[in-house]
Amino acid sequence: MTLNCTYAPDNIFAKILSGAIPSVKVYEDDRVLSFMDAFPQANGHTLVIPKVSACNLFDVSSEDLQNLIHHTQRIATALRDGLEPDGIRIAQFNGESAGQTVFHLHFHIIPVYNGNQVRAHAAGQMADLNELRGFADKIRAKL
Ligand code: AMP
Repeated sequence: MTLNCTYAPDNIFAKILSGAIPSVKVYEDDRVLSFMDAFPQANGHTLVIPKVSACNLFDVSSEDLQNLIHHTQRIATALRDGLEPDGIRIAQFNGESAGQTVFHLHFHIIPVYNGNQVRAHAAGQMADLNELRGFADKIRAKL
């Protein structure tokens, strides 16, 4: 996979979008989906993806990207108010060399809590589903 990637329709986020595999949803409309990261780097780690088939930042129209970042800000604001972390990281990786592991464009919203180290990217343990649902409920309540 290079920065000039070709979208693979069987990637894991495409399967989440089609409903072939489950996710803990935070927000959905006709253009974006937000759900809890199943291997979170911190409690409340949330992802936001567009519904267009774009594998990275260079594979999406600026209009779709603007809509995606708009919703990322909205969801990050709800996460800020619902989970009250001390800081929030917004991350987005392009290419395997940069750490990208799923080749469907997405933004990470990673809450940072004083005294708790953010876990390594793409190295975490699968989270407990009920715990993820609890975080999603708190974020959704502030949307
Ligand atoms: P990246 O490495 O930037 O492509 O991020 C992909 C993210 O997707 C990682 O943070 C993974 O923990 C997360 N992830 C992988 N599989 C799933 C899944 N089935 N449901 C939710 N998140 C996932």
